[in-house]
Amino acid sequence: MLTERSTLTQFLIEERRRYPDSSGELNSLILDVALACKAIAKRIASGALTGVLGSAEVTNVQGEKQQKLDVLANDIFLRANEWGGLVTGMASEELEDPYLIPRKYPRGKYLLTFDPLDGSSNIDVNVSDGSIFSILRSPTPGVDAKVEDFLQPGTEQVACGYAIYGPSTMIVLTVGRGVHGFTLDPHLGEFFLTRQDITLPESTAEFAINSSNGRFWEPAVVRYVDECLAGKSGPRGKDFNMRWVASLVAETHRVLTRGGVFLYPRDSKDMSIEGRLRLLYEANPIAFLIEQAGGRATTGRERILDVKPSQLHQRIGFIFGSRQEVERIEHYHSAPVEDPEELDHPLYALRGLFRDTA
Ligand code: MN
Ligand code: MN
Repeated sequence: MLTERSTLTQFLIEERRRYPDSSGELNSLILDVALACKAIAKRIASGALTGVLGSAEVTNVQGEKQQKLDVLANDIFLRANEWGGLVTGMASEELEDPYLIPRKYPRGKYLLTFDPLDGSSNIDVNVSDGSIFSILRSPTPGVDAKVEDFLQPGTEQVACGYAIYGPSTMIVLTVGRGVHGFTLDPHLGEFFLTRQDITLPESTAEFAINSSNGRFWEPAVVRYVDECLAGKSGPRGKDFNMRWVASLVAETHRVLTRGGVFLYPRDSKDMSIEGRLRLLYEANPIAFLIEQAGGRATTGRERILDVKPSQLHQRIGFIFGSRQEVERIEHYHSAPVEDPEELDHPLYALRGLFRDTA
């Protein structure tokens, strides 16, 4: 029987007992990931005292400025997971190509993808960030992973989760049977089960979007946000709150805690990319968690978990949260454009975000 004093290890052992034939390798892998998260939490918590803040003065494969902690967290993930004989390779936000396991270690049967430090621009301002991970089965156990091996739809994930480094450190994960949260006891160095079977409220009055991109949004998103902003006197008939932390993990954790909807939709800001967030190590694991908690995750046009990836670092429009809100946004994407003038104005300037509705 799991209680508030159950550890992550105990939880994983109870889960494994449901599958008498399982080898326990998945548990070992999750615990290695958890160790990496503990190590990262410790570095983050020490902040400026250990000189880990600030920029690494390099640009990563994504064209983003790496923080020192991005580099450090990536190394911690690699070192914690390369030796155990559990994976055939790893894919990281910080590495252009899959990381191959050093020759001296055996290859296993899983693939691990991760964003070692999500929301790293929040570090210097002492705001929550996190790590995100996803575990897939390797199509070729025992053999070095190739890029194609990782290009599996999110429905194929075996387990996934995130660590959030906030006032307390937590791991929230699923192994395909609900979503569960564990809080780190820093004195014992153990994660304890503190939230069992996390479920999302079906409806909400809270949304999160970076409205500075409003002029690049598609009509469906403009309409949704306009209607939220119109509040009680608008078509929704209720007032909404807006939130924006600019850290996917922190946004997800809020949505999993009290409901809400998060949008980083496809927009016209950079037509060469389909969205901002990365499919394999951001959208897929978060979408799996959200669905397991009773919510919904979409590109606006397609269920995230059904998208067949074409590239390791593929980006995608990402909308998730309480089921009813996400269904509404999906409907707006598929609904015919109501104002014929919009067809002539692809930048839909007529329906700007903070337009005067008088
Ligand atoms: Mn990220
Ligand atoms: Mn990152």
